[in-house]
Amino acid sequence: MIIQYSPYTLRPRTVLNAAQGGVAKTRQGVLLKVTWPDGRIGYSDLHPWEELGDKNLSEQLQDLKAGRLSYQLEQSLWLANRDSHLRQAGKSIFDEGIKVINNYILTDYLSAPDGLVDEIKQQKFNTVKLKVGMNLDSEIEFIARLASANFQVRLDFNSVGSLKIFEKFYNKLTPLARASIEYVEDPFRYNYEQWMQASQMLPLAMDNEVHAVDWSQETEPLPFGTLVLKPAKCDVNTYLKWAQNFNLKIAVTSYMDHPVGVIHAVGVAMELQRDYPEVMLEAGCMTHALYQLDEYSAQIDCSGPYFKRVTGTGVGFDNLLAKAQWLNL
Ligand code: MG
Repeated sequence: MIIQYSPYTLRPRTVLNAAQGGVAKTRQGVLLKVTWPDGRIGYSDLHPWEELGDKNLSEQLQDLKAGRLSYQLEQSLWLANRDSHLRQAGKSIFDEGIKVINNYILTDYLSAPDGLVDEIKQQKFNTVKLKVGMNLDSEIEFIARLASANFQVRLDFNSVGSLKIFEKFYNKLTPLARASIEYVEDPFRYNYEQWMQASQMLPLAMDNEVHAVDWSQETEPLPFGTLVLKPAKCDVNTYLKWAQNFNLKIAVTSYMDHPVGVIHAVGVAMELQRDYPEVMLEAGCMTHALYQLDEYSAQIDCSGPYFKRVTGTGVGFDNLLAKAQWLNL
């Protein structure tokens, strides 16, 4: 197996989450090109978020070279393998699975134009996801606006809060706003008792804190009802098993990564929607829109909350991947 990589930079339109410390920084990652001994070639993304506990890029590339695979590297290779089979068969990832609806993602609502909420409504989104924990009072105000416009709301604290902050936050929400909240993702660092208390206030979802859960010991009820599955770093079968054993729902999301990673996530979401519709909630894969347009994202076309088919085989972008510069590990 030959692995090559191609570095890229993504330029956020705005600050992406509370874990980023309030500054919109450019983001580095690499695309991977994997050639198997039988001649199959597949592509995937490797986009570490050190802020969320991933090893940095150069460490991960060294690990990849040495065959030490993190969760993230395992997923990158698994996704490249999926892509290679589709390419070999001349199929697009959009030929598999069924269309999934996505939530709208808003990171910069504090400077959002007045008409934004109406515009999202017109585009027929049901659900809006907000990254919170940066400015609670204005966030609470904005949630109230979304609730009065009849949106379902997903919130993500990226574990920067605490039970105390969460209580304060909850107490300031109007009953209408509370009722609009589908779930709160990673309200603060995982602690069974404290998450249990928080879950008495609002439904919780588990994303980045998943390895803090003792899955062999835990019994129902868990303090969260939803698992956020990022194909970029989560093993799909393990998540399905947890969902079935603990009666959880799954929301598939992209990893605020490269468009190649985004379409891989959409592909996994579409397949799970076909095979396990009873488990699946709306997806959250439209993170490419958080970055300035580049030649890859220019090939992604959405119609409201739905992705349109991307041209090409596998995850698409055939013309761009063919002309990218590939470096040896
Ligand atoms: Mg999250």
